[in-house]
Amino acid sequence: MSQVHIWQRKPEPITEFNGEEVADVVVVGAGIAGCTAAQSVSESGASVICIEKFDQPSAHGVDIGAIDSILQREAGIEISPVEAARLIYAWSQQQANYQLIRTFTERSGEVMSHYVQIAREAGYTVHLNTEHTARADWDTLDDRFRMFRTAHVFNDPNAPESDGPLRNVVYAVRVIYESALAHGAKFYFNTPAEQLIKEDGRVVGVAVSDGEGGYKRITGRNGVIMATGGITNNKEMIECFCPMALYADGNAYTPVGGNAGDGHIMCAWAGAAFSRCFPAPLIHPVSFTALKPGMDSSWLAVNRNGKRFCNETAWEPIVTNARISAPGNVAWSIWDSDYLEHYKRMEPIKYAALPDDILEEVEENVAKGRYKRADSIEELAEAIGVPAGNLVATVARYNELVDSGVDEDFGVPERFLSPCKRGPFYASKISAVMLSLLYGMRVDDNSQVCDANDDPIPGLYAVGAVQGDFFANSYPVTMPGADHGRALCFGRLVGLALAKGENIDGTPAA
Ligand SMILES: Cc1cc2nc3c(=O)[nH]c(=O)nc-3n(C[C@H](O)[C@H](O)[C@H](O)COP(=O)(O)OP(=O)(O)OC[C@H]3O[C@@H](n4cnc5c(N)ncnc54)[C@H](O)[C@@H]3O)c2cc1C
Repeated sequence: MSQVHIWQRKPEPITEFNGEEVADVVVVGAGIAGCTAAQSVSESGASVICIEKFDQPSAHGVDIGAIDSILQREAGIEISPVEAARLIYAWSQQQANYQLIRTFTERSGEVMSHYVQIAREAGYTVHLNTEHTARADWDTLDDRFRMFRTAHVFNDPNAPESDGPLRNVVYAVRVIYESALAHGAKFYFNTPAEQLIKEDGRVVGVAVSDGEGGYKRITGRNGVIMATGGITNNKEMIECFCPMALYADGNAYTPVGGNAGDGHIMCAWAGAAFSRCFPAPLIHPVSFTALKPGMDSSWLAVNRNGKRFCNETAWEPIVTNARISAPGNVAWSIWDSDYLEHYKRMEPIKYAALPDDILEEVEENVAKGRYKRADSIEELAEAIGVPAGNLVATVARYNELVDSGVDEDFGVPERFLSPCKRGPFYASKISAVMLSLLYGMRVDDNSQVCDANDDPIPGLYAVGAVQGDFFANSYPVTMPGADHGRALCFGRLVGLALAKGENIDGTPAA
């Protein structure tokens, strides 16, 4: 008998409540998508209650993507929304909803500009991440490798040192959350939503735990916006929808209890369909040095048989997806002693920003055993446990391609081919850590959640990671920060619209 999953086992509806609260809009989840939705509803003058199961808003990561924001205009960066939509859609192998993508490419700039302004007024700074993820000079490459300068980074110039690095999205969410509070939004923390409440075919509210074994009813007059995050922490869902992601090295970044697919399950119980797209895992490599093999630089990659197996252009999903499919789920980056010269040619801007002690950093990692170093390719093969004959042949073939300037085997652009000729030689295991697994509920062009017939369920919307049909197949790093960017964009557009009882396209909300 085939397994019946939790999302297929609809429980008895909760009907007994120890109290009720009513607002124009209810938002479930206080991550970047939910905080933005709540802020937008409250800014419009409508009432909103945001329910969060943790004790504070959730936020992680660095980049928030947008097109044609005030910062991009100030920097003279022009990105065609039409071209950007074409490329994101192409990354999905045409499975995603083109109209949703087009809405993002056309409206994310106005949304970002709004929050840049609020952030500046609150004493935060925002800049474009053009040296790091959104590389300044990758927008001239062919479609397959093109990367736009879309990443926006928030900072708190007065942050205490104890905040540590990579707090950028925390600052962004803090700005938005504080603005929501200032506009009268109510946030209930430590309050898990348990079920959606449906009456006469319409989602009218949410049953939340009252912390004492009972439930409270939170009613949304205009509707409910689900913003409950993703499924990276739900093994049953990963096994069912995206077994490939089980082979990632882990999702160490995910907060315990977060991204458990709660919202997906509640939507399914309320009659919603899952997206028909292949999920788009966001799996990236972690590195021990600023050179970041497989993410920031393209070194020759070999599998456990010592054979080249993929295009190594430094794009996380390209290399990490291939690593997961490699025999034994293991792969190595190989580079030679001229690595700094190669890096300079591949990434001139990032080269200039390398730390002064990069050579010491590499040697330190050799001493710690994280990198292997050997005088010859044969010895390196022994150090990483691959057949020496194969590795010697692979390196020879690779160098031949480098010399010819054309990678006939895998199509790495010439700029990213790095000769492997002068010893000693180095090797580093390619890691593959899951940040996000982009797979959500079936939605229409207004991000309203749909049933199996693709009919929108009255009163039910999804934003952020629980919104399906925006990404599919593979994460489009062509658009750095797209994941946070669509959360911000649709959080605001759906919030603004539902505050007025409308859909994004201006039609009355059903
Ligand atoms: C370390 C890390 C780095 C990342 N870096 C980037 C990056 O640089 N750029 C990028 O675009 N993306 C990045 N991502 C991915 C991105 O952070 C997520 O996709 C994004 O957080 C999704 O936002 P969200 O608001 O939909 O969900 P979340 O941020 O997960 O928020 C969902 C909220 O809903 C709450 N919730 C869930 N269930 C319930 C319930 N039953 N009741 C009440 N509340 C509930 C959760 O507790 C949570 O607070 C990164 C992810 C990680 C983990």
